[in-house]
Amino acid sequence: MSNEEVKALARERFTEYLEAHGQRKTPERYAILDAVYSSKGHFDIEGLHRTMVDDSRFHVSRATLYNTIDLLADAGLVVKHQFGDHTAHYERSLQTTPHHHLVCTQCGKVTEFVSAELERDIARVQTPDFRKTSYTLYIYGLCADCATAGTAARKH
Ligand SMILES: [Zn+2]
Ligand SMILES: [Zn+2]
Repeated sequence: MSNEEVKALARERFTEYLEAHGQRKTPERYAILDAVYSSKGHFDIEGLHRTMVDDSRFHVSRATLYNTIDLLADAGLVVKHQFGDHTAHYERSLQTTPHHHLVCTQCGKVTEFVSAELERDIARVQTPDFRKTSYTLYIYGLCADCATAGTAARKH
């Protein structure tokens, strides 16, 4: 599926969601959806706000951004992450490869990784009387840069 097709699908889902919840279908909300689905990887509200101010035909306030991101999360079009600092991070969720996150506790860098082995093991885990639908995994530690800096500091 091309990115344009994914965007079209996301717009379709969002329309269904807004109609089902009696929410207004404003051009600002669709512009935000578009910006989200044009982004790669993770973003926070400030970053998204900057992007939208830079290229925008719309003046989207932070309040509208927060409100719309909440709607997108509720509609299952965006996933919210809390990586350990106080800022919420988000990423698009349609047509993405299942992946996990390595979080550096020193500099906050987040790296994605994919593990077929892990997917298999989680699928195999028995959860009686509970139907699994999704899961999230964060692994905390030091990225290569911070680990190297730590080793260098200890040598001196
Ligand atoms: Zn680091
Ligand atoms: Zn991710």
